[in-house]
Amino acid sequence: MRYVSTRGGAPVLEFDDALLAGLAADGGLYVPSAWPAISAGDLEAWRDLSYAELAVRVISPFLGGRIGEDDFAAMVEDAYAGFDHPDVAPLKQLEDGLWLMELFHGPTLAFKDYPMQLLGRLFDHVLSKRGERVTILVATSGDTGSAAIAACRDREAIDAFILYPHGRVTEIQRRQMTTVAAPNVHSIAIEGTFDDCQDLVKAMFNDRGFRDELKLSAMNSINWGRVMAQTVYYVRAALRVAAPGQAVGYSVPSGNFGNVFAGYAAREMGLPVDRLVVASNVNDILTRFFEAGDYSIAEVRPTLSPSMDIQISSNFERLLYDLYDRDGAAVAEAVATFRETGRLDVGEARWQKAREIFTGYRLDDEETKATIREVWRATGELLDPHSAIGVAAARAKRRDPATPMVALATAHPGKFAEAVEAATGSKPELPPALADLVARPERLQVLAGELGPVQDFIRAHVELQGAA
Ligand SMILES: *Cc1c(COP(=O)(O)O)cnc(C)c1O
Repeated sequence: MRYVSTRGGAPVLEFDDALLAGLAADGGLYVPSAWPAISAGDLEAWRDLSYAELAVRVISPFLGGRIGEDDFAAMVEDAYAGFDHPDVAPLKQLEDGLWLMELFHGPTLAFKDYPMQLLGRLFDHVLSKRGERVTILVATSGDTGSAAIAACRDREAIDAFILYPHGRVTEIQRRQMTTVAAPNVHSIAIEGTFDDCQDLVKAMFNDRGFRDELKLSAMNSINWGRVMAQTVYYVRAALRVAAPGQAVGYSVPSGNFGNVFAGYAAREMGLPVDRLVVASNVNDILTRFFEAGDYSIAEVRPTLSPSMDIQISSNFERLLYDLYDRDGAAVAEAVATFRETGRLDVGEARWQKAREIFTGYRLDDEETKATIREVWRATGELLDPHSAIGVAAARAKRRDPATPMVALATAHPGKFAEAVEAATGSKPELPPALADLVARPERLQVLAGELGPVQDFIRAHVELQGAA
C-alpha cells in the first residue's frame, strides 16, 4: 500500500511519510494507490468486535506494514479508551428504518475526535521512532481546534499552536481550547476572522525558513490519516443495523467533504452502501453539484451549523481523482480551472457517475430549528444543528423503508446549546466530564492578526518546550 497525489506530480509515499506530509508537494491530496478489500466474510467475522478491535481490522491494510501490529493495536485501544460510551459510536433507532449514530462521545464532543485521537498517537509514534519533533499549526473556527488540542496534549514529539478568531467562537468552544493544562499546546486568539487565522497559517507554511526551522506540520482534514480513521464507523454502523449483505444508506452533515468521503472509501473497499447523502446548510456548493452539476463557489454565509460554513470542500478533490479515472494531470487542470474561474464543469458522464453514489440535500436555519424541535417532540432526542441537518436529509432522501438509513450525529447538543435551546426551550447539559468547564482556568494569548508577532510567540514557546 502506497500513497499517490491526486495531482499526479508528487513523489509516491509510504503511509508514514504521507501521514507527516499532509498535503502533497504538488498541492494535491494523498490517496491510497488501491483500495484494500473488505469481503462479506470479513464483515461476518467482525460482527462482535469492540470498536477498537474493528478499527484495527479496518485500518491495518492502509498502514502498508509501516507501523508495528502490536504498537498499532495499543494506539487504537488507547485512542478510544477515554470515550464516554462503551460502544464508542452508539446507534439509536429514531424511527422505522432510521438510525442515529452518535459520534460525539470523545473528549471534545464532535466527530473530529474519532480521527484526531488516533492521529495524535500515530504522529507521536512515527516521530519518536525517527527521533524528530514537529510543530502543528491549526487555524480553526471552533471544533477542529479543540479536537486537535485534545489529540496533541501531552504527546512527546509535538508542539501545537491553535489560532482561532478572538470573540468569534462560542464560549464552550473557547473554553475547550483554553482550559487544557498541557505545556505543549497553545491557544492563540487572533484579532480578526477565521479567514485571517487561515491566512496566517498559510503564510507561516509559505515562509520556507520558518517552516524548516520549526518543522511545521498539519493535522487538518486533508490529512489522509483522518479519512482513514473515519471509515471505521461506517463499517460499524452496517454491522449494527443491517442483515448480512444488506446495503445501508448514510446521511452525513458535510463541510469539507472529509467525513462523507470516508463513507465513499468504505464503499470502495466493499462495504454494501446504498447511497451517501451529503447534507449541507445554505453553504451548499456540494448539494448544488450533486443536484445540478453546478460546482461553483459562492459567498460563505454564517449559519447555526458553523462547522459546515465552507464553500471550498478540500476533500472533494479526492472524489474528483476517481471521477477522472485517477488521471492526476486531468485533476490538476480541473482544480486550476476552478481556482481561476470559481466554477468547475466535470461533464455529464462524470456527474452521472457521482450521482450513482451521492445525493445532496440542503437546509436553512429555520428548517434546521424546526427539525430539532420536531425530533425532540417525537423522540425526546436533542440534536445539535449539524446533526439535525443530517437527520432531515436522511428522511428526505431515503429510497425505501426496508433499506436502513444511518444519520451521523456529528456533535453533542451541549456544544451548540444556544441554538438547541432556541429551538426547543430545553437547554442541553454537557456530559459529566465537561460539567465544570466554565469553572476551569483559561490560558490563552491574544495577538493582532500580524505575521511577525505570531511567529515570535511560536518561536519562543517551542524553545521553552525544548529546553524543559
Ligand atoms: C467538521 C464538522 C462537520 C463537517 O465535516 P467535514 O468532514 O468537513 O465534511 C460537520 N459537523 C460537525 C459538528 C463538525 O465539527
